[in-house]
Amino acid sequence: MKSTGVVRKIDELGRIVLPSELRKVFGIGVGDELEISVDGEQVILQKRRDLCVFCGAEEPAIEFKGRKVCDTCAGDLGGFQGVEVRLPDAAPSATATT
Ligand SMILES: [Zn+2]
Repeated sequence: MKSTGVVRKIDELGRIVLPSELRKVFGIGVGDELEISVDGEQVILQKRRDLCVFCGAEEPAIEFKGRKVCDTCAGDLGGFQGVEVRLPDAAPSATATT
């Protein structure tokens, strides 16, 4: 494991700041999720990989309302094809004959 030489203090709430250079290198932005794991005495932060919200499949191809969904689960949702959105039939307007 490679040391970056960067030392940061943990604040009273247990928070640390990731140096901006590291965030840049790893493509970590505001709102991204990091997975925390441990290996012996090491704490490891990994950028969370995109997984299908239903089955956990990796690299889901479709995004729906900000969530990733794989092709299989999207198919199971009933003909959802990426950008196709079915809206209920428009109700007859009460003011249609003015
Ligand atoms: Zn899936």
